[in-house]
Amino acid sequence: MIETDVAIIGAGPAGLYAAYYSGFRGFSVVLIDALAEIGGQITAMYPEKEIFDIAGFPSVKGRDLIDGLIAQASSAKPIYKMGTQVSSLEENSSGIKLTLDSDEEMFAKVVIIAGGIGAFTPRALPTGMEWLGKGLVHFVPSLSEHAGKRVVIAGGGDSAFDWAYSLQPIAKSVTLIHRRDAFRAHAATVEQVKAMGVELITSAEITAINGDEKITSVEITLKEDGQVRNLECDTVVAALGFVANIGPIANWGLELEKRHIVVNSTMETSIKRVFSVGDIATYTGKVPLIAVGFGEAALAVNNAAPYIDEKYGVFPGHSSGSSSD
Ligand SMILES: Cc1cc2nc3c(=O)[nH]c(=O)nc-3n(C[C@H](O)[C@H](O)[C@H](O)COP(=O)(O)OP(=O)(O)OC[C@H]3O[C@@H](n4cnc5c(N)ncnc54)[C@H](O)[C@@H]3O)c2cc1C
Repeated sequence: MIETDVAIIGAGPAGLYAAYYSGFRGFSVVLIDALAEIGGQITAMYPEKEIFDIAGFPSVKGRDLIDGLIAQASSAKPIYKMGTQVSSLEENSSGIKLTLDSDEEMFAKVVIIAGGIGAFTPRALPTGMEWLGKGLVHFVPSLSEHAGKRVVIAGGGDSAFDWAYSLQPIAKSVTLIHRRDAFRAHAATVEQVKAMGVELITSAEITAINGDEKITSVEITLKEDGQVRNLECDTVVAALGFVANIGPIANWGLELEKRHIVVNSTMETSIKRVFSVGDIATYTGKVPLIAVGFGEAALAVNNAAPYIDEKYGVFPGHSSGSSSD
């Protein structure tokens, strides 16, 4: 059985920063994540996208932010258990027993759940899903694959506009199709994308995808008058959001509110020694942002310290007073 001071469920930005902080406090740490890759939503959905609201970085690419978090967390010498889901959590008098889907067991003095939105699956287009892998994609892990291509993006949320913003400078053309005439995406990004010259077609739906071996065009139907338009393209990005499922976490006896874990002001859950941070944690006034998750991670690890050993206080001291060697 693996034994550790801190077990962190989820290796997204909040979990990675909690790992760094655990090391800073001198605790051993294991990170467990169901995905094969480190980095949570950022790695899975927007690695090439610039993020503008991380303190200290006017702009940082998602991939670079995760690389920096991994490098920072490496000082904690964390053990990563990737591609592994935590299936059960049980408390006892001295800590928490976790069971992994590999049937392996783990004992931790404290657990930090940084499970984000849980396991997610992308929403399907109403038609044409048989083109998946033949020009139809849900995510754009590598921008360069679409250099010089004609790209059609379906969706009106952040992902759709982020891909449009990143692809417009390198693609031959980018067209965004949305079924409504209002967008859910951040207003500033919508304005930037418009200014870049991306064609926006609203109140319209993709009604067919055509091609041979690969996609060659999409058929778009305008809702107002039923007019049909054919757009030549090489790639269709279906960015319609995703269905999130927090999976086994819902059965661990934690107090939940709409698929989120309720925490108090120390980030502790309704189960002693179990803390939660990042998108999955909720309290009055919660804002699900990376920057907020970082602060929550520091709060959770420091408030967990006295559980690891009574000799530890909550305040960690200042990192600027410690050596990075
Ligand atoms: C397109 C897009 C753009 C965004 N842009 C911004 C932005 O500009 N600024 C900003 O602040 N935020 C942005 N966000 C939101 C931001 O990505 C999230 O707030 C952030 O990723 C949350 O981090 P997290 O560590 O809490 O969770 P996540 O990043 O979701 O990571 C959670 C991890 O937990 C794992 N997990 C879940 N359940 C289990 C389990 N039972 N066992 C093992 N592993 C498990 C998951 O596999 C996942 O890897 C954006 C999100 C999207 C989708």
